Amino acid sequence: MNNDIKEILFSHTQIVEMATKVAKEIERDFKDNENPPVIVGLLVGAVPFVAEVIKHIDIPVEIEFLRVKSYVGDTSSGALKIYSHLVTPIKGRDVVVIDDIIDTGLSMKQIINMFVADGAKSVKVGCMLEKKARHEVVDFDINYVGSQVGNQFVVGFGLDYNELYRNLPYIGVLKESVYKK
Ligand code: 5GP
Ligand code: MG
Repeated sequence: MNNDIKEILFSHTQIVEMATKVAKEIERDFKDNENPPVIVGLLVGAVPFVAEVIKHIDIPVEIEFLRVKSYVGDTSSGALKIYSHLVTPIKGRDVVVIDDIIDTGLSMKQIINMFVADGAKSVKVGCMLEKKARHEVVDFDINYVGSQVGNQFVVGFGLDYNELYRNLPYIGVLKESVYKK
């Protein structure tokens, strides 16, 4: 698996720093809140990052996960499929949606619309990585960003290529030869 990686962009140590920064920003925004916010991680990609973020949040929060799928291979299909639902009623709650990476923003836009339609009091957005150069429909604020990344396809720490490489403890770029297999 490691042999398929051309270059490491973010080490595990750097990712923990990114997660800690995001955690402290969430803490700052909700420390005086009457009700705990609901942190919604998008399955599967956001699992490692959300797991790291919540360890560093020092205020009450609820944790939920939603199974979505937006990508086939290495291009965004634009259409998001939702395979599960939340147990927590979202009406009147402050929601923080966290994804692994925001590229075009099409996936996140659909999730935000869904939570707004469900009557969320507020919807904030976070991600481990942001591909700023590529935003198509980002007319929403991204409130919590681990780091910016260039316009290249990355894997690891939750990010997959055809469902593989999510278990890498770092984020890197795949060798071209992997795509040609
Ligand atoms: P968007 O809808 O913002 O274009 O795409 C968001 C989703 O596309 C992410 O949740 C992620 O699954 C996938 N994605 C976007 N860019 C990358 C990338 O560089 N690497 C991987 N592995 N997935 C990506
Ligand atoms: Mg994803």
